[in-house]
Amino acid sequence: MLRFTRVSRLLGAALVAVPAVLAAQNGALPMKLAPRPTTGPITVADLMTRLYRVADDSMGGRPTGSEGHVKVTQYIADELRRLGLRPAGDNGTYFQDIGMERRGFSATSAVSVGNRSFHIGDDFVPILARGGRARAGTAADIVIGGTHGDSTTWISADAARGKLVVMRPNPRRLQLEQRFMAFGPGSRFADAAAVVLPVLPQLAAPARRQLAQPSLVMGGGARMGAEVPPTLLASPEMAQALIAATGQSATLALRFEVTPAPGRNVIAVLPGRDPALRGQYVALGAHTDHDPLVPYGVDHDSLRAFNLARERVLRELGERRATPQQLANIRVDVAASRGGRPARTDSIKNGADDDGSGTVTLLELAEAFATAPQKPRRSLLFVFHVAEEIGLLGADYFTEHPTVPLDSVVAQLNMDMVGRGGVDDIAGGGPGYLQLVGSRRLSRELGDLVEAVNRRQPQPFTFDYGFDADGHPERIYCRSDHAMYARYGVPVTFFHTGLHHDYHQVTDEPQYIDYEKMARIATLIHDVTLELGNRAERPKLDGPKPDPNAACKQ
Ligand SMILES: [Zn+2]
Repeated sequence: MLRFTRVSRLLGAALVAVPAVLAAQNGALPMKLAPRPTTGPITVADLMTRLYRVADDSMGGRPTGSEGHVKVTQYIADELRRLGLRPAGDNGTYFQDIGMERRGFSATSAVSVGNRSFHIGDDFVPILARGGRARAGTAADIVIGGTHGDSTTWISADAARGKLVVMRPNPRRLQLEQRFMAFGPGSRFADAAAVVLPVLPQLAAPARRQLAQPSLVMGGGARMGAEVPPTLLASPEMAQALIAATGQSATLALRFEVTPAPGRNVIAVLPGRDPALRGQYVALGAHTDHDPLVPYGVDHDSLRAFNLARERVLRELGERRATPQQLANIRVDVAASRGGRPARTDSIKNGADDDGSGTVTLLELAEAFATAPQKPRRSLLFVFHVAEEIGLLGADYFTEHPTVPLDSVVAQLNMDMVGRGGVDDIAGGGPGYLQLVGSRRLSRELGDLVEAVNRRQPQPFTFDYGFDADGHPERIYCRSDHAMYARYGVPVTFFHTGLHHDYHQVTDEPQYIDYEKMARIATLIHDVTLELGNRAERPKLDGPKPDPNAACKQ
């Protein structure tokens, strides 16, 4: 599930019994699990074997572009091959490369003047105006541009053209957007060779490291924007040295590099048994990527106890905001209850629920259908999407470059975070709690069908449609892969057990998953898929036809 920056995630707080919180964490599930061979039916044991593998620390959080993500997609492709599903990616493979690129300044980038050299990372961090590509330059004369953040003192655009423009520090505390402002097209210094802002000490170390790294973006020349001057967030020493050398020529070795990065969807088809209907598909999806390492290790147990305590307090008071004092009290309680236990430092966001749970549910479904004696009449399309967490990019790419005709997809069932939703996780949570999002937006018939299938389950779920409401501030409908299908008029259902206190934390680990419930969700989706795969007619569309180019509307 794509992270969404809320304007104010408000908190209420009173003290809760934190030792009880810590005790509650010591659940029955192990931290590691030796894999066992999986079987045809959807089972708790299979889901555990798969999720402990997919969300293992060795996968490093599976961020797009990483070795861990390559590994997890290879595991999925190997499983699909073993199960005999037909590859439906590029060139007869299971993979569809979505053309990710890393763009950034090389680690050897430097600026020198006279006998002094300044290096990327220690002395400066280059930034670029959004969407811009860096102007390449080898040398430029140094000019003083004026005072940073005070445009009344700035030199003209003409005077800055082709120059290395160095700004003097501003003694005032500037607003964030001003402080780290990159000069883009239309700005005063758009035609400068580069601009130096003496603000590096104001940038926190993790942000500095992150900005010095190349960024991961969708490739394609069309998306490369206008040429812009690199803006260097520089140390005061570097800025002073450059100002002292005004009029001299500086050597600019700012090498902007674009290199391909791995990023692939995994796609397979199980052909339907009915020649008349096998040209139609029921699409099933999940996302395989999660997040990069966090810059600082944190104590897993303390973090989890804190987040859980905060969640309980919120819920108990029905409030949305805590005072800093109340939060401090929780911290004190958490620290005290930790006693003498050594810290378990953690920096890997394992994404067990997000979306390891959907990934392994999808694999279990592939195994169940592939090993069943009779296939559905329609074909099944399994798409394991990449780059969901950085903007639904894998689903965006697949729906723009579909490997089966998109109008032959009768519905898309998305599973993203289907392993939680317990009493501690969400208000109203429990074994029967399941959120459905989007299921009636394009086809009421699809929404009705999911409910009918649910009623036939031995232990039906209670669907929470609250997050599907028009205009809901969490915008859940727009925050996972199904939205990319829906914009092209494919009716969708998003199965989701809700956000919780481990969401996008290093504590989203396999030992906190409810496998029994996940198996029941997998079975529900299996039965919905079977119904969609076998019924005579595809779900009737009755919602307003969406505009694929419009922004998603909750
Ligand atoms: Zn997510």
